[in-house]
Order: sequence, then C-alpha cells, then structure tokens
Amino acid sequence: MNQDRRSFVRTTAALSTLAGLGFHTSNAADNQSTVNFALVGLGSLSTNQIAPALQKTKHAKLVGIVTGTPAKEKIWADKYGIEKQNIYNYDNFDQLVDNEAIDVVYIVLPNGMHKEFTIRGAKAGKHVLCEKPMANSAADCQAMIDACRENQRKLAVGYRCQFEPHHLHCRELANSQKYGPLKAIEAGFGFKIGDPNQWRLKADLAGGGALMDVGIYALQACRFLTGEEPVAVTAQETKTDAKKFAEVDETITWTMTMPSGVNCYCSTSYAFGGINRFNAYGDRGSFGLDPAFSYGGITGTSKDGPIKFPEIDQFAAEIDAFAQCILQDRQSTVAGEEGLRDLRVIEAIYASIENGKRIAIESGKG
Ligand code: NAD
Repeated sequence: MNQDRRSFVRTTAALSTLAGLGFHTSNAADNQSTVNFALVGLGSLSTNQIAPALQKTKHAKLVGIVTGTPAKEKIWADKYGIEKQNIYNYDNFDQLVDNEAIDVVYIVLPNGMHKEFTIRGAKAGKHVLCEKPMANSAADCQAMIDACRENQRKLAVGYRCQFEPHHLHCRELANSQKYGPLKAIEAGFGFKIGDPNQWRLKADLAGGGALMDVGIYALQACRFLTGEEPVAVTAQETKTDAKKFAEVDETITWTMTMPSGVNCYCSTSYAFGGINRFNAYGDRGSFGLDPAFSYGGITGTSKDGPIKFPEIDQFAAEIDAFAQCILQDRQSTVAGEEGLRDLRVIEAIYASIENGKRIAIESGKG
C-alpha cells in the first residue's frame, strides 16, 4: 500500500511536470467535464447545504462519502446514488489512493481535524476543498499548503462569500472608488450558541470560539473589500459565561489598520445574534450588506439605493469554481494561502487580547 502510494505520488508529480512543460498527460481530471467529489464528514453543513448544492453544480458531482457513522452510509447511498466502493470511514480513508473515481475530498469536519484530513487527502492523490476556518493555527495551514504542493494537488478554502454577487458588487464599488477611497469598514457576525457540549466550544476541535467560527467572515469582508492585509490589530474579549466559554472566546471586538489607512472595526460573538453585516465608508458615501453572511437573503444598500441581485447557491458557486480550477489547471482565488492569511490575523487578534497591546503584523505576512 505504502509502495503503491509512493509510486502514485511519484507518477503524479512526473505527470504534473510534463504538463508544466506543455505535454498532454492523462492526469486525474483531464478529458473530464466534471470533477468527482467525496464529502468528508456528514454533519449539518454537508447534509443541509453542501450535498444539495452538489446536485446543482455544473462541473462537480457528488460520488463519494467519508463518514464515521455506519448508519449514514445507506441513507446517503440511497439518497445520492453513492456506489459502495466510494464509501469510506476515517480509518480506511487513505485507501482513496486506489480510487480513481474520486478527484476531490471536501473536508467538512470540525476545524481541528482539517489539517489531518487535508494532508491525508493530498497524500492519497486527491485535490482538497477545506471548510473554513482552514485550521487551528497558521502553522497548520502552512503544513496543509506544503502537503498539497508536495503531492501536486490543489487546495482551496470554503470561502463561499467570495463567489456571492452582492459581495462581488461591493468589492467592485470599493475598487472603482465610486464613493471615493475607503476610509473605514465596520463588520460583524455573531449568533447565540446553544448546546454547551458541542465541539465548537472545545479548543482542540474548534481552535477558538466565535472569532474562528464566524468572526472570520468579518475579517474576510475587510480583506476582500480592500484587497489589503492588516498591518496591525488591537482586540478585546468579553466573557459573560466563564463556564460555557472556558476553552474558547465568547465575544471579541477588534480594530485592524490596512496599509492604505483604512480602519476596520469588527466584532463577533457567541453570546447574541442579530449581527450579520458590513458597512464600508468612502469619502463620498457608504455601502454595505445586512444580512451579509447568511446562506441566502443577502441584501444591501448604498448611497444610491438598494443593492439587490438574484439569489445564488453560494456553495454550488464555490464548488464549481474549484472544479473549474482543476479542469483548467488554475490556482484558486481562495487557495490555501488565503486561509493562511486569515489565520495569521486571527493569531494576532488572540495575541492582542492576551497581551493587552496593539500587535503589528509583519509586512507581507499578514
Ligand atoms: P457538525 O457538527 O454538524 O458536523 C461535523 C461532522 O464531523 C459530523 O458528521 C461529525 O460526526 C463529524 N466528526 C468526526 N469526528 C468528530 C469529532 N471528534 N467531534 C465532532 N464531530 C466529529 O459541524 P458543521 O456545522 O457541519 O461544521 C463542519 C465544518 O464546516 C466546520 O469546519 C465549520 O466551521 C464549517 N462550516 C462552514 C460553514 C460555511 O458557511 N462555509 C457553515 C457551517 C460550518
């Protein structure tokens, strides 16, 4: 098996080098118009959003599943026509190396498991789409990027909002400076979290609390609108329930300064809901979305009136975009490096809370 895997990886690397030199190769997704996905982790997001989205995609197809719950195997096989040989569990996951019917593994596990399954997926010769946040730490993100690079596989992070028309329009308003150069952005995302025993409240599985889970959307919005990386952050945390939030953060507010001077005022919380928005302020007017980060119903306003586009399935758009990157051998706009940049800022936010100080983020590494 190890020998097989080594020779597969060597072959893949050699084929990729040939492709780089302009030779035609028969690498995984060549001669295909559709890329075949296996979902890893069949929890809430896979069940309610991603599997339904994979029924709407043009360039991607759901053909496999990886689950630790045997009872789910038949349910999913019946519902989505998954063939028996494309059903795996967390122990025999590495046997994917022998399955050419699967091109991509989409990692939809608790955050603390993203690193392990991304690396194992890449070593099994699969491209990887990984849910957000990419991993528990920047070091883990780097290890995932390295593993995918070494195995000549593509890696992308599930930043669905970057494919959403309202978000794209807002970025265009920012880029075109329709309301003048941006001066400030306010962004926040939070919800009241329930079950005190869930993995989202456990440090090893979640990597952090509200900031890692939903604050990352506010951070993403600021980076996406400006196209810049923060040079410094200042952050504070508030905890109203020390027992429930013993391991992870509950509510955080933070400010970020962009190189152009744009100041970002952000917040995230697990203690209360109703905050799901961003607003960007230029010299000559403002624009924003509220709700901004939901699966649907995104709506916004600008100085010139409402911002409203037809609703899309954000997951289908994100998956199709990654599938096209594979089919056309292009780097994703939400590649692993994009997830790494967010984790670097998140680590600076936690460091600021810890030290009570403004934290400078090294230029080019933000
Ligand atoms: P979930 O708890 O509903 O599902 C997690 C899955 O992992 C379950 O099938 C569970 O059985 C499995 N699992 C395997 N080992 C586990 C362990 N040790 N502890 C707990 N579960 C384990 O979670 P979810 O809401 O589906 O989130 C999964 C991932 O998707 C997370 O990384 C989350 O941040 C991300 N997510 C992204 C979005 C988005 O909009 N892009 C939305 C929700 C969740």
